[in-house]
Amino acid sequence: MTDRSTMRTYRLPTTANRGKLDAVAAVLPWWQRGLVHVQYIQVRKLKAGQTELGWLQSGEKKSLPSYLSQRQWNSVTSQVNAVLAAWQTAAKVGLRAVIRALRFEDEELRRQLYRINARKAWWAVDCVLDARHGVMVSEEALRMSTVLANEWLRKHPFPNLSEVRTMAMDGTVARVSVSDKPHADYWVKVSTLEKRNPVSIPLRGYDYFNDAPGEVRNFCQISVSTTGDVCFTLVKKSQPTQLRIEGESVGLDWGLRNIFATSGGKLLGQTPYRWLCERDTELNDLAVSLQRQGIRLRDSKRYARLNRRIREYVRNEVGRILNRLAGEDIREMVVEELDFRMGGLSRRLNRIMSRAGRATVGAKLASLVETRGITVTKVNSAHTSRCCSGCGYVDKKNRISQERFSCRFCGKKLHADINAARNILGRSQGQGGLCDFSKEQVLAEMDWSFRARWRIEPTLLRERSHAGAVPLRRSNNDVNRRCGVTAP
Ligand SMILES: [Zn+2]
Repeated sequence: MTDRSTMRTYRLPTTANRGKLDAVAAVLPWWQRGLVHVQYIQVRKLKAGQTELGWLQSGEKKSLPSYLSQRQWNSVTSQVNAVLAAWQTAAKVGLRAVIRALRFEDEELRRQLYRINARKAWWAVDCVLDARHGVMVSEEALRMSTVLANEWLRKHPFPNLSEVRTMAMDGTVARVSVSDKPHADYWVKVSTLEKRNPVSIPLRGYDYFNDAPGEVRNFCQISVSTTGDVCFTLVKKSQPTQLRIEGESVGLDWGLRNIFATSGGKLLGQTPYRWLCERDTELNDLAVSLQRQGIRLRDSKRYARLNRRIREYVRNEVGRILNRLAGEDIREMVVEELDFRMGGLSRRLNRIMSRAGRATVGAKLASLVETRGITVTKVNSAHTSRCCSGCGYVDKKNRISQERFSCRFCGKKLHADINAARNILGRSQGQGGLCDFSKEQVLAEMDWSFRARWRIEPTLLRERSHAGAVPLRRSNNDVNRRCGVTAP
């Protein structure tokens, strides 16, 4: 069983005096240097083919500079490892899409690249990826994955840790204890630059923190702002609620007009398209005027504010709808790997919406698993909007507008998003949701099922349909003659 426990962070106010806070803040520049130092060591290992980063070797530890204590170096190493692990996870998702989009004659090569990517072994030098399970790949696949990973790294470099302003300190350098004094609920004893002279920081709890489930971990995140403010964040670890075993499975399609459509036929949360169009105009006017003044977008407070407003809007809507849905008798939600583009809006707004949506929906779904015990299953999104949920015929002409779906084979008509939601639900049964399939492979799979079911060649149907033939109703006997196929 996987560990489904979760960590939540809470910032706690402190009443510590300026002297103590300054002593803690003074650690930051050295901590940053330490992060950069350890990152250099760990990245070298990654690029030499190591995939799991652990503690430093004793030889490496001995050569560390003395501006931090050994225990501080250990804590720094954990922070670096966490950052690099997050990079690896993001790279794995990103590279999966890259591999899917590659054009190859050789499908075996693609499969090998997937295998390498799944193990994050992009820089591996040994063809045996997993000796225990006998997983091997070719030299060519190894070379190619290194090229892909380097290219990815060029576009998505490792974070610059010299600018990180948060120190993730574990209990050996920031011991957390419960206070019995009235003016503090917790104490954090932080190691500073002065050996054997830690400072004790009093922290105050509050209702939301105290009521939150879970136990306080012996760990503290300390952030120092550029103006010298010091913030302390504690972590609670909680066990999630039991997974629901009763209730329905529901497929969800994310669109922007209707935030969600369910396989049960509901449309939830209509996005006011007009509101979005107004924000879009505002956004683009602002961008143009900033560019004219030679101001970079990311330096503009107004641009940031507008960005935030759109993001918050998406977050609130998504949260509200998913909470409502979770209140129903649902055991499982089936979702596609998310894509948030919408016609009629600028690339700029689509990008913001898509980032906001992806992050929010991802976080919200994760919290539903944890707090409500709902299983979330992800499936491949390819062709879900083009396939008929009734007969399985795939044709882009099936979707006649943003909202209308009308199957050119069986004649089924329904809301396009609800049709997609039903396909998403259907895809959760079997083959792991076709998750690692390329778009072409998904189509081949669906065509195969269609052929098996109707004994009609779907590619032939599509050719006719794209040549402008009238809808190919199955109920119409004419269909067989026109396709030159005998009826089942
Ligand atoms: Zn159909």
